[in-house]
Amino acid sequence: MLTSQIVVYSQHGEPADVLSTHSYEIDDSHIGDNEIIVKTLAAPVNPSDINQIQGVYPSKPEKTTNFGTVEASAPCGNEGLFEIIKVGSKVTDFSIGDWAIPAQVNFGTWRTHALANDSEFLKIPNPSQSKANGKSTGLTINQGATISVNPPTALLMLTHYVKLIPGKDWFIQNGGNSAVGKYAIQISKLLGFNSLSVIRDRPNLQELKDELTSLGATKVITEEENGSKEFGPTIKGWTKETGGEIKLALNCVGGKNSTGVARKLANNGLMLTYGGMSFQPVILPTSLHIFKNITSAGFWVTQLLKQNPELKVETLNQIVEWYEDEKLIDAPSLQTKFDPNGDKPLHELYQEAVINSKQGKQLITF
Ligand code: NDP
Repeated sequence: MLTSQIVVYSQHGEPADVLSTHSYEIDDSHIGDNEIIVKTLAAPVNPSDINQIQGVYPSKPEKTTNFGTVEASAPCGNEGLFEIIKVGSKVTDFSIGDWAIPAQVNFGTWRTHALANDSEFLKIPNPSQSKANGKSTGLTINQGATISVNPPTALLMLTHYVKLIPGKDWFIQNGGNSAVGKYAIQISKLLGFNSLSVIRDRPNLQELKDELTSLGATKVITEEENGSKEFGPTIKGWTKETGGEIKLALNCVGGKNSTGVARKLANNGLMLTYGGMSFQPVILPTSLHIFKNITSAGFWVTQLLKQNPELKVETLNQIVEWYEDEKLIDAPSLQTKFDPNGDKPLHELYQEAVINSKQGKQLITF
């Protein structure tokens, strides 16, 4: 028997109040023909994980007593990296030692081990497989554990809706220093698009601007500059220099910030809203709709890739290749290692990680 520990909640609420760790047994000597047992290598905290626990996210895991809890409980965590430690007799897609990520969200990644059907996982190369494949490097734990949400979001938003002309066209984004924002900066550089990133002012503004520039940002401006009429001509000058237009806006903030971002779009431009970090509604001036024919639409990676599993595989393959070729740098995480024999239960580690996520992306390693 293998003992798995999993973070669950039976009632929605703040993570600090509702999470608990539950232990349950996996019978590793009798697994089904198509089943696999995985060991968690790392699982991050994303904003959507927190919103799920709070009960304000539209996609949620089912509450179940399958983990042996008295009350039906839902598992936490959507993204994570796993290693296969046992395979059933008819499993052909995985071998022991392979790395895998959940094929769908809501798997419950904040746990030490899982018994699953092989169809619930997608294989990604582990470092020795990448090297055997002629690559100079393999994925890191952080890259594997955070590959399913933020990098595909950035790549798909940049390529799936609007055709930007390499070398000429631009996209604008707010939350330029968010994890998604940093991937969007790098991927746009790889694809030859110009980026204009809006960030909030801070004491070490220049340091952050330098960091984003080193990732490949074309231009980085503050929220104040984004909202200022006087700054508009400077941006127009930048786009004129490249002979292109700002055809796409990526909005994860909302409020006045998103209004400023939408105003920078050229005629017929598209604003994709994928997050609402300010908790303010998106307000678009009527004139932008009528006279500039701006379109405002939502983007949700979960729904898009659920409807199109082939696109998911294609997108992940591209991200893996960029990582292996060292063309893409992962957004760094603050890593904390879980000690299964230590004093701190797993849910307390995640509760601390939720609080600390304001200081940067948190990754629990196992
Ligand atoms: P991060 O935690 O890495 O970054 C959060 C960003 O939000 C930072 O740039 C932060 O800026 C900014 N921010 C926070 N509060 C405010 C505010 N009040 N006003 C302006 N900016 C603010 O986040 P992720 O990259 O992981 O995710 C970013 C957003 O994208 C989230 O809302 C997430 O849910 C969403 N998302 C949506 C997806 C989808 O499919 N729709 C997929 C992936 C992510 P600062 O440093 O100044 O605090």
